[in-house]
Amino acid sequence: MRYLIFILFPLFGFSQDHLASLQKSLSISRHLEKDLQELCDQIGGRVTGSKANEKSVKWAFEKFKEAKVKTWKQEFEMPVMWMEGASKFRVSGEIEFRPLAVAKYQTPPGNYIADLVDVGSGSPEEVEIVKNKLYQNFALVETEMCLDIDGLFNEYVHAATVEALLRKYKVKGIVFMSSRPQKLLYRFIPSKVVENDLPQFIMAREDAKRCLRSIRAGKNLKFMTTVRADIGGEFMSHNVLAEIKGSSKVDEVIVVGAHLDSWALGTGANDNGCNVVMLINIARQMQELGLKPKRTIRFALWNGEEQGYFGSWAYTKEYQSELDNHKMAMSVDIGSGEIIGFFTNGRDDLKQAMEIILSPLNQDKSLTMIDVPIIGTDNFDFMLEGIPNLVAAHRPASYGINYHASSDTYDKVDFTSLTKNTQLIASLLWLYANDETDNIDLHRQSRSEIQSIFDKHDTEFSMRMFNVWVPWINGDRGRK
Ligand SMILES: [Zn+2]
Repeated sequence: MRYLIFILFPLFGFSQDHLASLQKSLSISRHLEKDLQELCDQIGGRVTGSKANEKSVKWAFEKFKEAKVKTWKQEFEMPVMWMEGASKFRVSGEIEFRPLAVAKYQTPPGNYIADLVDVGSGSPEEVEIVKNKLYQNFALVETEMCLDIDGLFNEYVHAATVEALLRKYKVKGIVFMSSRPQKLLYRFIPSKVVENDLPQFIMAREDAKRCLRSIRAGKNLKFMTTVRADIGGEFMSHNVLAEIKGSSKVDEVIVVGAHLDSWALGTGANDNGCNVVMLINIARQMQELGLKPKRTIRFALWNGEEQGYFGSWAYTKEYQSELDNHKMAMSVDIGSGEIIGFFTNGRDDLKQAMEIILSPLNQDKSLTMIDVPIIGTDNFDFMLEGIPNLVAAHRPASYGINYHASSDTYDKVDFTSLTKNTQLIASLLWLYANDETDNIDLHRQSRSEIQSIFDKHDTEFSMRMFNVWVPWINGDRGRK
């Protein structure tokens, strides 16, 4: 009888044993802490194109090699170089002081001086009142506080809407009030991203309020700045890839990715060093335990994400011939708050598959599938290629307030939840890569099916906000 049970359940039993040993080996945070200290404290902020970014590529490659996981670099071209140097800012006129500020990505370097015009929150009604003052002057835009992930999304929408409106009045530039308190500054992209030509800035909230109070008290102010930036044309960058080959379905690939690059006001800890070290640690432990998944698990540390997911886009171009066999591509990019589910990105079939696959890990039903398309990270080009794609959804924790900010540093990472998240992602990968049924045999969508996701979820505005709508419509990006 005992023998019979053994024959009936060996595969299930082995797989469960492997899952348990994988979870156990990932239950300590020591490796995560050590790796993240190296990446954030010793290498630091790592804008794509910088020396620190190159160091991080070398570091990640060595980490996979030390773990004895097959690893390689994928070279790809970035369209432009832009890294801010020591820019200077001054408010002058009837009052004088030096505000804290930073330029938004792709603000052209140079000297600028012009009147500062209060446009309130930048609504059409408020802009209408001051429209005659706007030509070749700086608009100062009031913002709401951003304390969480919803706040971040609202900030992107607000900034893109105001930018589009103010461009019509031919302003010299836009100064946005920082959405964070305590003089916190952060780097934001303008809505034309790499094609931006309009000077745009984030000014410390307290300093912007001082300007607004003064203007509203009848004072005339000018905004002066010298923008310094290292700029240039195309240059080469690298993704770091690693994989554990499948044992029986070797051509079928599960991709899991996190971006290696960051902005450099902080050290890119929650965005996205914490999830880089998560993936390195999963690969390390799978290898150390000698685990052989049925399908190939490919780990991708993307580069050039912050400028428009150039690394993951380049991957979908270079590995185009393998994409029919990509069974899933997942991104982990929303910090170290506890994972509470997954975005299934407009694919109901994936949502249903995930509910089945995850059921051994989700007995208490605490994980939820959210079927909306995420536009702002490295799942995007997989979505454009019709491949089932996921983004991990997290509790907000301290992600929103420190997002892209000087405060995104090692000390903000929650290692208790990062450790739990590492166990969960490893387990999901293991179950996905070993699935024996047709649960995960989801088809690669056609261009019209992909378009119907965008139509259903009305994503045009979001896609324009990240400058990716036109390339999709033109057929320059995504499935033909
Ligand atoms: Zn990120």
